[in-house]
Amino acid sequence: MKRSFIRVKETLYRFKNWRITITVIPRHLYLEFNLSKAWFRKRVEGCDLGELILKEDELVITFRKPLGEEKVTEYIGWDLNKCSLDGFSPRYGWIRIDLRHLYHIHRVHEIKRERAQSKASKKSSLKSIVSKHGRRERNRAKDFIHKLTTQLSKMFPNVMHGFEDLNKLGMYSRSKKHNRNVAKQNWKQIIQYMNYKSKVKLVNPKNTSSTCPRCGDKMIKLRKGQVVKCKRCGLTLDRQLCGAINIYFRMCGFPPSPSIFYRVVIKKMISLWNVRMKEGRGVTTKGDKGDDMLPMNPRGELSPMNPKAYIGLPMPM
Ligand SMILES: [Zn+2]
Repeated sequence: MKRSFIRVKETLYRFKNWRITITVIPRHLYLEFNLSKAWFRKRVEGCDLGELILKEDELVITFRKPLGEEKVTEYIGWDLNKCSLDGFSPRYGWIRIDLRHLYHIHRVHEIKRERAQSKASKKSSLKSIVSKHGRRERNRAKDFIHKLTTQLSKMFPNVMHGFEDLNKLGMYSRSKKHNRNVAKQNWKQIIQYMNYKSKVKLVNPKNTSSTCPRCGDKMIKLRKGQVVKCKRCGLTLDRQLCGAINIYFRMCGFPPSPSIFYRVVIKKMISLWNVRMKEGRGVTTKGDKGDDMLPMNPRGELSPMNPKAYIGLPMPM
């Protein structure tokens, strides 16, 4: 060891059947600690393992208590997409969080993998390189998702987070592309980690981005699918925002309805926009400048994006 102590990242250990396994050299050297007969076992039953600190002669183990019965004062509906995480709640309005970094991780590794694979097919000793890339990619993605979910749960205390129930998504399968599967894997992990750190509610994913939250009719895609418009009432929404609003509605048990839509979305968002306009930042329709988002940028990895379009209603005749 070069240092007197090491913080063991969550990606470098495993905790199963009361045994902690720490990776020292991947696939070669592991340290194992058996806690099955530890004196403190009773005290930490039901807790999650937190950060480990490895010293020369001891291992410091931290445990996290699952969240107690904190009061939920707010719901946020989250729509997971390949490049962004879009949330909606009457209090915060439209929250968009950049996930392009996560997509980038996979893209970079995909290219590396392809290169390594074409070499590996010629030389069998290179096969381990291929699997090494896969592990690194997963660890990087995991690390990002840990930071993302920690930030989200800190930023939105006392919030119940709503997501689509992805296990039911298969029934309404969107696409079969490989990319989708990778993204779906991330989505599952995001929900899983959120569940450790906050309260989560899963809702039926059926047609969340193609149902009009105002009248319940079908929305049709405009502008390459980025914007959706209701066939019946003419409501126009960004597709991701539409998804987030519908998820929020389902969490709360609201049916699509003009009066609820007005009270929960339009009225609240107009006041939010007014506040921002007064502060001189403003939400713009073009997506330039105007950083109206909540402050969150601890290490530069997680960044809120400026929502590009919002809600359009046909002018009354
Ligand atoms: Zn409608």
